[in-house]
Amino acid sequence: MNRLEVLDKGYVILHDVMGSDLTVVNSARVSYDKKSESLTEGDRRLIAFLAREGHTSPFRHSTLQFEVYSPLMVARQHFKYIVGSSIAEATGDNMDAWNESSRRYVTEEPTFYLPQPDEWRSAPESSKQGSGDIVPYVIGKAAWLRLMDQIDSDYANYKWALEHGICAEQARLFLPAYGMYVRYYWTASLQSVAHFVNQRLADDAQVEIQAYARAVLELAREHFPASIDALVTEAGVRK
Ligand SMILES: Cc1cc2nc3c(=O)[nH]c(=O)nc-3n(C[C@H](O)[C@H](O)[C@H](O)COP(=O)(O)OP(=O)(O)OC[C@H]3O[C@@H](n4cnc5c(N)ncnc54)[C@H](O)[C@@H]3O)c2cc1C
Repeated sequence: MNRLEVLDKGYVILHDVMGSDLTVVNSARVSYDKKSESLTEGDRRLIAFLAREGHTSPFRHSTLQFEVYSPLMVARQHFKYIVGSSIAEATGDNMDAWNESSRRYVTEEPTFYLPQPDEWRSAPESSKQGSGDIVPYVIGKAAWLRLMDQIDSDYANYKWALEHGICAEQARLFLPAYGMYVRYYWTASLQSVAHFVNQRLADDAQVEIQAYARAVLELAREHFPASIDALVTEAGVRK
């Protein structure tokens, strides 16, 4: 399994992986000229020690390449991870650039995140949280209908602009951007992936990006079970 569905229309795909838990162990042991062929209990203890003591360089010899389809508001938060990360359309090569489907050139049908009536959250009690409990159904239903109406009307204006010869890079101004899905590639070291997951699984992260962090965690864990276990906890708090 290399693809997980997220939110109403999004997904995370793990396209490529370089390395494994053994890569972490062997890069740490190179200074002793030692190499493991398969992961032993001692190797697992070494991985836990490295994570616990903050000896992070062995976690940077492994790389994961993801394709993400998320609302723009999630992508903006994701793009903040710049150390050991690259978000590149093809191979994620230069570690300092990212690319997404920007709608300057692509006029594929836009897709929007539309929370269901029972998914609208209240304003938070604590200013450190982004949102609180689910609002009453009647409010959620009204929000759902209003957002749907807005998307329909903005989309009609977008189509009108394209049909009247306006370029795609300006026609997109009509689209409601925060909830519009964008597609991008994210290539990152194992350490950077764990850093993202730790921060964005935490309670103070926006619920929508928590869902993406859970998908990234699940996909990464299949390839790096010992390292992920050492670097990340389910709550997103480092052990
Ligand atoms: C709950 C939450 C709310 C947020 N709210 C906002 C907000 O309102 N506005 C906003 O702009 N951002 C916000 N952010 C984003 C946040 O400020 C970070 O940009 C983002 O979380 C990426 O983390 P980072 O900087 O550690 O990642 P990276 O930039 O990828 O850095 C990874 C790590 O590398 C090290 N590092 C990076 N740069 C240097 C350096 N120059 N020197 C030495 N070490 C370095 C640090 O240890 C750092 O943690 C929020 C993040 C969270 C989790």
